[in-house]
Amino acid sequence: MVFASEKDANKDKDEKSKIEKELFSDRKNAWEMLGEERKTAFRFCDDYKEFIDKNKTEREITAWAERLAKKNGYVSFEEATPTSKKIYSTNHGKNIVLVDLGNGKLSDGLRIIGAHIDSLRLDLKLNPVYESDPFLMINLHYYGGIKKFQWLNVPLAMHGVVFNKKGEKVNIEIGEKDDEPVFVISDLAIHLEEPEFKEKPTKDIIKGEDLDAIGGSIPLDDKKVKEKLKAAFLKAINDKYKLVEEDFVSAEVSLYPATKARDVGIDSGIIGAPAHDDRVCAYLSIQSIMEAKSTHPKMVLFVDKEETGSVGNTSMDSMFLENFIEKLVKLRKETHLAKEVLAKSKAISADVTHGLDPKFADKMDLSNVNKVGYGTVVEKYGGGGGKYYTNDANAEYLSWIRRVFDEANIPWQHGEASKVDQGGGGTISYMLAKYNMDIIDIGPPVLAMHSPFELTSKIDVYATFKAYKAFYEYK
Ligand code: MN
Ligand code: MN
Repeated sequence: MVFASEKDANKDKDEKSKIEKELFSDRKNAWEMLGEERKTAFRFCDDYKEFIDKNKTEREITAWAERLAKKNGYVSFEEATPTSKKIYSTNHGKNIVLVDLGNGKLSDGLRIIGAHIDSLRLDLKLNPVYESDPFLMINLHYYGGIKKFQWLNVPLAMHGVVFNKKGEKVNIEIGEKDDEPVFVISDLAIHLEEPEFKEKPTKDIIKGEDLDAIGGSIPLDDKKVKEKLKAAFLKAINDKYKLVEEDFVSAEVSLYPATKARDVGIDSGIIGAPAHDDRVCAYLSIQSIMEAKSTHPKMVLFVDKEETGSVGNTSMDSMFLENFIEKLVKLRKETHLAKEVLAKSKAISADVTHGLDPKFADKMDLSNVNKVGYGTVVEKYGGGGGKYYTNDANAEYLSWIRRVFDEANIPWQHGEASKVDQGGGGTISYMLAKYNMDIIDIGPPVLAMHSPFELTSKIDVYATFKAYKAFYEYK
């Protein structure tokens, strides 16, 4: 109980002074800001959860996006005519670009949202299995930046494609259905760690080469066979997919966390799932282009290999985007070069960033921090050290983005991903920036990024959707 006088004093403390109201930056909690839209946000996130439970690899996401595009009236570049407005193109089955020209011309420039659709995982090596008595082991090479120990004791599902001797494509998926087995990299029991456990650096908990999963344990019942565990595994694969060991040379098969998306917290406000990074931004960008009511030429771009440095023919480094626009210019008999179209464009590099985890608050500058539940994050720059290797967006462009978001009542925040000199990371923004377009990183904050169970707030997911849509719609 408080005395009336104390109560009044507290009231004075809560109430901001006139000068604070006028001069101070004020970032509100997004749940409070979007009070009436909470239900919509929850429904929206149910669909998002369904998407991430079903689509894990860059190929699966590309195929999903292609189906969605077709359903919404997009045609493939091969089918497009000079008057087609909605056109998409895929690249090696692992990228997709969608353009909705609206009432505009390419020479007006595009509103572009680009996201990456590769995520952390464990790739099967080309010699994918070996025996280590009493187990058949799946031989793995991790993909992207992981804290290796976080991937121990996690149920893993196998996803991928294999091309057999004849060149026929076989899709593999094991471990997603409830009645299917999963794979796992087992950790050492605590009882066997003494006395070195307490002093062990995290990097020594498991070495990269030891990140191999248990693939089987029942020897083949055949006295003539020497490697009975390996034979049993390959026979099971052969029974199901008609493949032999050598076929894994022409394959892209990986183990992904089999964990389904779950609500977190008594209020179900947070979604826990593998690889929000960056499937959440991919999902939001494509949903927003489908729902945006505007006539500007718009584009969504999904790229691969961001997690390994954007190198390779399906990455942002590939000429795929430029070639596509050049073909489009020709098809429509416009005169600009693809590079000129891109230079006139405005873009969002759609990627997640780090939210404040109060128990690790020492990694953040608390006066420049992003919080889960406070809306989408506009990140002027990332990079490491003295802002190395980052696209540092122009103040002019931020000024435009501010107007876009504030006029549409979008909850947004603008902290830095971490303390100065506390690690860092990159996105695809600097690679699109080379075309001289305006570009900035925008996406929801995430906790435990790159772990098998990342956390993001439903309201931030929804706020980011509204932000992307406003970007497409702004005059
Ligand atoms: Mn990312
Ligand atoms: Mn990442």
